[in-house]
Amino acid sequence: MPKLRCTVDNCSYNKEEYCTLNYILVDGDGQVATNVEDTCCTNFDASEYTLSNQEHMAQAVVDIKCTADHCIFNEDNVCEAEEVGMAGASTCTCSQDTQCGTFRCGRS
Ligand code: SF4
Repeated sequence: MPKLRCTVDNCSYNKEEYCTLNYILVDGDGQVATNVEDTCCTNFDASEYTLSNQEHMAQAVVDIKCTADHCIFNEDNVCEAEEVGMAGASTCTCSQDTQCGTFRCGRS
């Protein structure tokens, strides 16, 4: 499983740039994603920001399922990268504002 760092600091599950979920789903819409901007974290949730940040335990390693078929790290919809960087501004309001910075297109 990849080590996950995440800069989306207004997500309910973000604690000091670690994710407090042990499983996330990254969306790349099958063969549509050909660059970082086409991907997003579907688990982004800003609804319980303050409370959740204090309650959850941070995870350094997270199981990542991913639908970005063209990414070189995608093996049967499982992310096999050693480290993944999820990115997004603290002004994110929805999943589509986030992106997987580790995406690398392998489409020939
Ligand atoms: S590195 Fe590639 S396979 Fe892993 S989550 Fe990001 S887009 Fe998906």
